[in-house]
Amino acid sequence: MNTSFGNRRRALQWLGSAGASGVLGACAMSSPSSDLPAKKLGRVLVVGAGFGGATAAKYLKYWGGPGIEVVLIDRSPQFYSCPLSNLVLGGSRTLADITVGYQGLRELGVVVLTDEVASIDTARKKVVLTKIADQSYDRLIVAPGVDFNFGAIQGLDAQAQTTVLHAWKAGQQTVDLRRQLEAMPNGGVFVMTIPQAPYRCPPGPYERACQVAHYFKTRKPRSKVLVLDANPEIMSKKGLFTKAFNEQYGGIVEYRANSNVTEIDARSRTAITEVGERVRADVLNVIPPQGAGEIARKTGLVNANNRWCQVDWVTMESTAAPAVHVLGDATLSAPAMPKSGHMANQHGKTAAAAIVELLGGRAPQPQMMTNTCYSFIDDKNVVHVASVHRYVPEKKTMEIVPGSGGLSAAPNELEGVYANAWAQTIWRDMFA
Ligand SMILES: Cc1cc2nc3c(=O)[nH]c(=O)nc-3n(C[C@H](O)[C@H](O)[C@H](O)COP(=O)(O)OP(=O)(O)OC[C@H]3O[C@@H](n4cnc5c(N)ncnc54)[C@H](O)[C@@H]3O)c2cc1C
Repeated sequence: MNTSFGNRRRALQWLGSAGASGVLGACAMSSPSSDLPAKKLGRVLVVGAGFGGATAAKYLKYWGGPGIEVVLIDRSPQFYSCPLSNLVLGGSRTLADITVGYQGLRELGVVVLTDEVASIDTARKKVVLTKIADQSYDRLIVAPGVDFNFGAIQGLDAQAQTTVLHAWKAGQQTVDLRRQLEAMPNGGVFVMTIPQAPYRCPPGPYERACQVAHYFKTRKPRSKVLVLDANPEIMSKKGLFTKAFNEQYGGIVEYRANSNVTEIDARSRTAITEVGERVRADVLNVIPPQGAGEIARKTGLVNANNRWCQVDWVTMESTAAPAVHVLGDATLSAPAMPKSGHMANQHGKTAAAAIVELLGGRAPQPQMMTNTCYSFIDDKNVVHVASVHRYVPEKKTMEIVPGSGGLSAAPNELEGVYANAWAQTIWRDMFA
């Protein structure tokens, strides 16, 4: 796609048509207000090239043109998508199917650096990398996703983490957990734990239970899935998942609410709940509690519940540090706003639009945000939940637009087609 600034109007039309198809809802977002001057406006560093950061980098370049230098930094040389990663566990996708490179962003003019961000000096507006020289910025975006509080689960030390996997960041752990499932004998028990909300992707764990159950039903029918959920009930698409567990996977999935696992014994693959109940697994998958990515914490951006980063929802600017914008899962979510890739993508566009305005000396405007989360019940049949969020100036937060959004009536193959199209489209929206 040609990114010269003369094409900005066409780009916005393109965004509108993507939104009109209902796939991304990008049309819900207004564009930066006026034509941009060709002069240098500033240098923006983006830490984290996932759903939030990659989207922000792309749209900064796309809307900001040559006047804005955009540098995107990630420790990983390529992107592994968490959406669809449960299908790798189910066996209908491979890691290659959910891997995207950063070449498209480079072709758009984004400088992509592969390195670990060691620290950020917000006073001197400088990012310290592990291998590459320090980088200065006019505006900084921090989109590091989540990191895990392993300490909340006794026994889940560094050694235990080599065999008791979370696979809650897509990549090598996704492949390794799939291998554990393949190696498990027919008749074995897969035990997965879900932390108390909020965590990344509210429906994700229940989709995972369905994917593993689908694998067992078709390949190892005497095996079981036991879900130990720390929450009092299924946290998303409750009726749809309950039906799937009881009917499609009846006799395979057992779901236990209020089962908070606070300890494990990695050697015997035993999960122990806070009331002392012990459950032995053949494959143990522990999803630990989560908070904003460690670099946000080190930078002093974590200022809500000692876990998340508060932002101004008009600009995504941190309330803890000026000229620093925080996106995606790391933020303290607004009411009813899920921690999802789709939502992080919307955060990225909001921040990009705001930064283009701020660097151009104009006032950013509030944006609408949309969300759609698809869940695969088996390899073809899918359900979705959708919502639209608007800024409420009196409360300085985002709220669901009354009557917006929706929920599937039942799993169906047509939504399977939509779900695959959603993934392809959002990856393209982020990286091409
Ligand atoms: C199993 C599963 C299924 C899911 N399914 C869906 C779905 O169907 N739809 C949906 O919308 N969402 C889904 N999600 C949620 C979605 O993956 C997250 O909400 C999304 O990834 C959040 O985007 P982000 O930009 O905040 O973080 P990420 O996408 O995780 O990106 C963060 C990036 O920051 C980098 N990083 C962090 N710290 C540093 C550092 N110090 N130096 C350099 N790089 C760093 C990381 O390497 C990473 O690439 C799912 C999640 C899971 C686990």
